[in-house]
Amino acid sequence: MRKKIVAGNWKMNLGFDEGQKLTSEIVNMLKDEQHSDVTAILNPPFVHLYPVKKLIGDTPNLFLGAQNCSDKASGAYTGEIAASMLASFGASFVILGHSERREYFKESNELLTEKTKQALANGLTPIFCCGEPLDIREAETHEEYVKNQLTESLFGFSAEEISKLVIAYEPIWAIGTGKTASSDQAQEMHAALRGHFASKYGQEVADNLSILYGGSCNPGNAKDIFSKPDVDGGLIGGASLKSRDFVDIIKSF
Ligand code: 13P
Repeated sequence: MRKKIVAGNWKMNLGFDEGQKLTSEIVNMLKDEQHSDVTAILNPPFVHLYPVKKLIGDTPNLFLGAQNCSDKASGAYTGEIAASMLASFGASFVILGHSERREYFKESNELLTEKTKQALANGLTPIFCCGEPLDIREAETHEEYVKNQLTESLFGFSAEEISKLVIAYEPIWAIGTGKTASSDQAQEMHAALRGHFASKYGQEVADNLSILYGGSCNPGNAKDIFSKPDVDGGLIGGASLKSRDFVDIIKSF
């Protein structure tokens, strides 16, 4: 089912107390302010996950997600976190294939297939990220580049499995730069990516996929971006670290 989703990606920010404070503020604002048909997700660093889950409690439409998981089920992989561990205390989502993980941790399309398998096997919804760097955008080969990321990582999955994913399109040149894609640029890519899923899995599966935009999304531009027919919400970095901004983005639909 296609849903409206706003997910906050805290990245590697905030100490323990700061994370608790931010979460409490968001929970209180959402309790007071109506956002009934938007699924909101907090994706803090691993050490925050359990306390953030406790603070979320039974807040309607607010869920917990991680920023990564291992491609392995369990065992001697020092420093890794398994999808089953995340699921064991009630995480619902996991961001996979963020461009920062692809670039700095050399995550390949093939590795991301394995991570996606682990997430799905443990009932987590992957928020699967894709997006092109600036030189690819300038060469005007971005559509082909991003479609290829999706084909290589995901097109071995069944239609039923694909229906469980959330896709996030994040042009790398717009991440943390203050330079957002225009709403028309976002719409153009989201329509192309939805068409790519339709070509492999059929129109119904594609129409039910939630495709989020990420990259310098803020309370000032979210309304315009979210108004586009193929944009189903946002994956928010910097602005998710401020409670008022994050809640205002949720309310931008
Ligand atoms: P910014 O919103 O800070 O540009 O980050 C976007 C992002 O990478 C979310 O995953």
